[in-house]
Amino acid sequence: MLENYHFSKLITGFRGYTPPHEIVAVGKYQGKLAELCLVHGWERDRDPDYWLMTGTGKKVILGLTGLVKSIEERKDEELTIVLERNNGYGNFKGPSKDISLDEEPQLGNELLKSELDQTYNIISDLDFYYGDTKDLFDWRADQVLARFGEFGRFFNETQIIPEYNDTMTAVTVSEGCFGKCRYCPEPGKGVNFFSLDQIDEKLKRARKIVEKYHGNHLDKMSEAFANASDLLYNYHFRKNRLHIPDPIQIIKLFYQHFPEIIKMYGFVGTQTVNAADQKYLRELYLSGLNRILIGIETAHNETSRFIGKPILTEKKVNAIIKLQQAGFPKVKAIVQVGSTGKGFYSEQGKFHSSWDALKETRDFLVNVMRKDKGSLRPKDKVIISRYVPIKNTELKQLHDEAKMVLPFEDGLELEEQVRYLESEMRCALIDVEADYEVALEGRIRIKAA
Ligand code: SF4
Repeated sequence: MLENYHFSKLITGFRGYTPPHEIVAVGKYQGKLAELCLVHGWERDRDPDYWLMTGTGKKVILGLTGLVKSIEERKDEELTIVLERNNGYGNFKGPSKDISLDEEPQLGNELLKSELDQTYNIISDLDFYYGDTKDLFDWRADQVLARFGEFGRFFNETQIIPEYNDTMTAVTVSEGCFGKCRYCPEPGKGVNFFSLDQIDEKLKRARKIVEKYHGNHLDKMSEAFANASDLLYNYHFRKNRLHIPDPIQIIKLFYQHFPEIIKMYGFVGTQTVNAADQKYLRELYLSGLNRILIGIETAHNETSRFIGKPILTEKKVNAIIKLQQAGFPKVKAIVQVGSTGKGFYSEQGKFHSSWDALKETRDFLVNVMRKDKGSLRPKDKVIISRYVPIKNTELKQLHDEAKMVLPFEDGLELEEQVRYLESEMRCALIDVEADYEVALEGRIRIKAA
C-alpha cells in the first residue's frame, strides 16, 4: 500500500543534509523502508537524478532514463561504491570485489547483471505515485547492457566522450586527428571525414536504437555529442574538398533526427578556433551547438611542448575569448593533471615542477573562464582530466623509465593535485568537474558487451 508523505525519510542519512527532492515511489526491501526520489540539482547547473534508497543501507543513483549510474552500500557508517558508470564510455567500473574485471570479463558481466537486476527488482516492487514514471524503470539488466552495447557501435573505446550519460546520443562524425600528443595511443594518423550521407545514415540508426529503448520517453534523450577530435577540421578542410560536410550542416542534421536535443556538444581545438572566422563561430553556435569543449591541457608552455601539444598559452586565451564572444553559453576547458608526474627534465636538463605548472594553469583559468558573479550568463566549466598512462605511448614510456619524467610515488599525489585545482576553481566561482579520466588503462571496468 502506498504510504503518502512528501519528504524522504532516508535521504539525510545518505548525504548528511537534504537536497531538494520529490518522492516518486515508496515500498519495502528486506522488510525495511525503500524510497525512490527525484533529486534536483543541489548545485545550479547540475542535472537531476533518481535516487533509490533502502533502510538496509543501499543507495543507487539512476539517470533520467532510468539507467543505473552508481550503486553504493553503507557499512559501518561509511558509503562504499559497489558499482559506478564510467563517464566516458557507458561501461561500468567496480564492483569493489577482489577480482580484476578486465581479466575476468565474464565474471564481471555476471556480477554487473546481478547488481543491476537487484536494483530493478527493488524498484518494480515499489508503489509509484505516477504510473508513467514506473515505465522508465521497466528495464532489466540485460536491456541495460544491450543498450550500451548497441550504442557502442557509434564510437569506440579510443574515442573520448566527455560527460557521456544516459540521456546522450553520441555519434562519430569524423575519425582521427592531426595532433601528435605524446600521451595519445593513436597520434597523427590524419582525419577520415565522413560524408553527410554517412552521418545521416548513422543518425538514422542511432534514432532507431533510441526509439527501441526509449520509445515512450524520447523527451528524456535531450543531449547529443557530435563526436570528432575537432569539429572545426571540417570547416577548414572543406575549403578545398567540398564533399566534406560543414559543421553547421552536421549540427542541423542532429536536430533533424533528434528534435528533442537541448544540449548539443562538440570538441574544437585552439588552433582551429583561432583560424576560424568569428562570424562563422557565431553561426555555428546559432545552428545549435551550445556546449563546446576545448582541450587546454595546461597553461605552462614548457609542459605543453613536452606532452606534444606545443601551443602557447596566449593562443589558448585567445581561443577561449573568441568562443565566449561568439556566444557559446558554456565553454568547457579540459585540463590535464598528472601527465608529467612530479615534473620533468627538459632537453637542456632543467627541471619543471608539475606543481608550478599547475599553479600557472590555475591563474590562467581564473583569468579567462567566466565565473558566477550573480549574473544571468552561465558559467564556463573546467573539466579536470586525471592522467592515466596508456600502454604503448611515448609518455608512459617516459614515466616508466623515470629519467626525463619523475613519476608520482602513488595515486595520492595525483589526487592531491586534482583536489587542489578543483578547490581553487570552486573558490574562484568557476564551475568544475573532476571525474573525467583521459584513459582507462589498468582500471577495473566491465564492458557492456
Ligand atoms: S590526444 Fe592529441 S593526438 Fe590524440 S586525438 Fe587528441 S589531439 Fe589528437
